[in-house]
Amino acid sequence: MGVGHSSLSSCSVDSLCITAFTAQPKTSSFSNSNRQKPLFPTKKHSPFAVLKIGTLNCARVAGEMDIGKGIAAAGKPIVDLHDIDDGLIQKIVYDALVWSSLHGLVVGDRNDQRSGKLPGVGMVHAPIALLPTSFPESHWKEACELAPIFNELIDRVSLDGKFLQDSLARTKKVDAFTSRLLDIHSKILEMSKREEIRLGLHRSDYMLDEKTKLLLQIEFNTISSSFAGLGCLVTDLHRTLLNDYGEDLGLDSKRIPGNTATGQFAEALAKAWTEYNNPRAVAMIVVQTEERNMYDQHWLCTLGITYNVRTIRKTLAEIDSEGQLLPDGTFLVYVSSDYCIEGGQAVAVVYFRAGYAPTDYPSESEWRARLLMEQSSAIKCPSISYHLAGTKKIQQELAKPNVLEKFLESKEDIAKLRKCFAGLWSLVDSDITKKAIEKPELFVMKPQREGGVENRVFGSTSGNNIYGDDVKETLLRLQKEGSEEDAAYILMQRIFPAVSPTFLIRDSICHKDHAISELGVYSAYLRNKESVIMNDQCGYLMRTKVSSSNEGGVAAGFAVLDRHSAWQIMVLVILKHREELF
Ligand code: ADP
Ligand code: MG
Repeated sequence: MGVGHSSLSSCSVDSLCITAFTAQPKTSSFSNSNRQKPLFPTKKHSPFAVLKIGTLNCARVAGEMDIGKGIAAAGKPIVDLHDIDDGLIQKIVYDALVWSSLHGLVVGDRNDQRSGKLPGVGMVHAPIALLPTSFPESHWKEACELAPIFNELIDRVSLDGKFLQDSLARTKKVDAFTSRLLDIHSKILEMSKREEIRLGLHRSDYMLDEKTKLLLQIEFNTISSSFAGLGCLVTDLHRTLLNDYGEDLGLDSKRIPGNTATGQFAEALAKAWTEYNNPRAVAMIVVQTEERNMYDQHWLCTLGITYNVRTIRKTLAEIDSEGQLLPDGTFLVYVSSDYCIEGGQAVAVVYFRAGYAPTDYPSESEWRARLLMEQSSAIKCPSISYHLAGTKKIQQELAKPNVLEKFLESKEDIAKLRKCFAGLWSLVDSDITKKAIEKPELFVMKPQREGGVENRVFGSTSGNNIYGDDVKETLLRLQKEGSEEDAAYILMQRIFPAVSPTFLIRDSICHKDHAISELGVYSAYLRNKESVIMNDQCGYLMRTKVSSSNEGGVAAGFAVLDRHSAWQIMVLVILKHREELF
């Protein structure tokens, strides 16, 4: 199994075809200005040149999988996008768009105001990369193998309330949102309440650093890990396209790894529901008031059909007004329909697709709802402890020497995790702060926020992270002010993945651009007391964004690295950042 990374290379010796979303920033060359342009420059080459080279490499793929061999490893492009006939691409694009419409690979269309509120109106195909991107199989396997180790680590960290509170103590003073989360956590600690049944539906994101060839973790998402549903569909789409056109393109659909994220997440939710052991209870998805990514979420609700588990969707505000905590810990929610008031339904599992951003809590009502659920016996995915364990500050604390050792016994596991840690520092480290001021392009500054890109779906202009000269300016300002606001941030080594040309489709327009990719590996963890019921890697998401995107983590001038990586494998691409894509 493998996930794809960069762009349009055909099968190489060590590569797999992976499906992914692609994201383009609003400012990118993927804009309207390109709509009237032809798909490619006027230069037209015979597609047969592509076919010939691609076929050669696919033949090699069938043979061996070692990294570092073959044409791709020599750093030469296998398929030159300029060489692909426009007519062929247009045919593939047409098929891709029809397939997306037929199979629910859709998101809410931001041009229709009702699209984020009502299902069935204002839909548009998800922004996607037309073809797979390559990714080294060895790194794909590495990422998959890390999944159960991270699952176990997060579970153990979540049980260490003191570690969570102490690590975030300075942040609490300056970050109101983290402070509120910690307050809920404190209340739960005071109750001496232990979650016996613990469910995690995670996604660990990685980039492959081009220079060092290291697979480095961007972050570990413990709340609202999105795109499992649509990501699986992109895999199916790309496989279908390669079945039809693979020979023309020199790409082999068999190189696309299977993607079972939707099914496994649904299975994990259903198993958690079973552990709760109340056949009349429902699973509740906590949603934002407006959600253009609702179809991705609804794919997981296949739960209802496959496992006969009733699923309801509620906003935090609705939960506050319709929820009730019974003395025995049962969480009831009042479910009404147009025809009748059904009365209180016990909730077995609460699955959060909201609640990770300050904007999800516009009033005290939402905070009340969060606390109420946390105090209940319902299985929270994530619990407040899992949520906090996934913060960027905890990621940085875990990367400190001798911290992993507190939570894990296996030296081998610890070494595997450490290998994927990028440089992570607190701003208390004056040497690093000095270095970051001198060379800000080598760092990313991160506040304790999640889903920066998701926020931008709704019109916000930027993500949460700070890049380039802004890093320098912010650090200098913090130094000058001498405030404790520095505790709101961490510093992270900037990762520079290979840049590759990619076909991106958005609003039915296909455009070629230089892109970088980020691999997300889903995982599920379910435990009831001492019994670990599930600890699995669950499929993947490959997100691609144009390399001129700053929030995507592309440094100024990075676009000059316009060459194929020596490590490319075939991968498929999905739009990376929702705001950019939707
Ligand atoms: P969020 O919780 O907002 O998703 P992330 O840590 O995932 O925050 O950062 C958002 C995006 O910024 C990532 O998807 C990635 O594209 C980019 N990014 C984050 N950290 C780095 C890094 N160290 N190097 C390069 N790009 C990064
Ligand atoms: Mg992220």
